[in-house]
Amino acid sequence: MEIKELVYNGAIPIFDLSKLEKPIEELLLQIGGALTEVAVLLKGADGQAYYPSVVSLQNEKLKELGPKTIDLLRDVNIKVKGLIYVHYDEYLSEEYGTVESGGRRTEGFICPINEAYQEQFLKILEEVSQTEIDDIILLLTGYASALHCFCENCRVTFSMDRKMPVNFNFSLLQGDKELYNEWIEWRSENIKAFLSKITEKTKELGLKPIFTVELDPNFQFEEGLKPSLGIDIKSIANFFEHFIVMVNPWEVILPPVQSKSFKELVQRVRNVKQQTNRNISLMYWPPSGEELKPLLTINEEVKSKGLYVFLQYPDQFKNWRETRIITP
Ligand SMILES: [Zn+2]
Repeated sequence: MEIKELVYNGAIPIFDLSKLEKPIEELLLQIGGALTEVAVLLKGADGQAYYPSVVSLQNEKLKELGPKTIDLLRDVNIKVKGLIYVHYDEYLSEEYGTVESGGRRTEGFICPINEAYQEQFLKILEEVSQTEIDDIILLLTGYASALHCFCENCRVTFSMDRKMPVNFNFSLLQGDKELYNEWIEWRSENIKAFLSKITEKTKELGLKPIFTVELDPNFQFEEGLKPSLGIDIKSIANFFEHFIVMVNPWEVILPPVQSKSFKELVQRVRNVKQQTNRNISLMYWPPSGEELKPLLTINEEVKSKGLYVFLQYPDQFKNWRETRIITP
């Protein structure tokens, strides 16, 4: 769908400045009057920063143009939220990458317990806080999939003080219920600990963090967030005032309004709202003409604060999907 049509239907566009087809001034002339808010991707999946950075790779074109675009939007009273991938960065993953149970490194995804990466990420937050964004949306947070992370650091750390071999894999955990439960708890504590550091840092920087929940049937919606991504929404709810629910991000299709699966999807979004007791908004990839209606209907039914939509699928979408939906 055209950006114009999306905006006139009340959706909030997510700009990837490296892919913007026309200058922002031109876009503002065309639809500026209808725009009240946008989200702007601050760093590409390839690790390039769209703002001046010494920590990350620098996108030269957007070094000045990124912050300037944010200023231009703010000048016409458009709210600007920044958006950043938390555990995905193709450049930094060369050093801090995550490993699947079978020993395979997973391109782009980051090991959630890597402390050196965590420090880098907090520095990235300091850098992005120099731009004029109001809030920061955290996307792609958590373990890459249910079969992560089996890097050496994770295996050594988890096996320490437990009677088990250090070269364990997922099958070993699966065969021992008690051990498996400990693994699941340990992973979610790791994510919680990092989110705690992030929220402390953002508070210090005067930024409001917003957490994106991937709500997908491939991992039983909210029920599967903990075993798959290590995210326990109830236990992290206090860190955030606001959650964004990404609906069916890996299913890539939205059920038609009135269908049984549509009703289930609405209920699942409500579950997130109830379990976190927070305001929620929705997010989706670039919707097709048929998908906008289900999205707007969910938006209304759950009293969501807004619908964020991407304008293009990210280049990495296929890889992300294949990784996210791995089931043991
Ligand atoms: Zn690891």
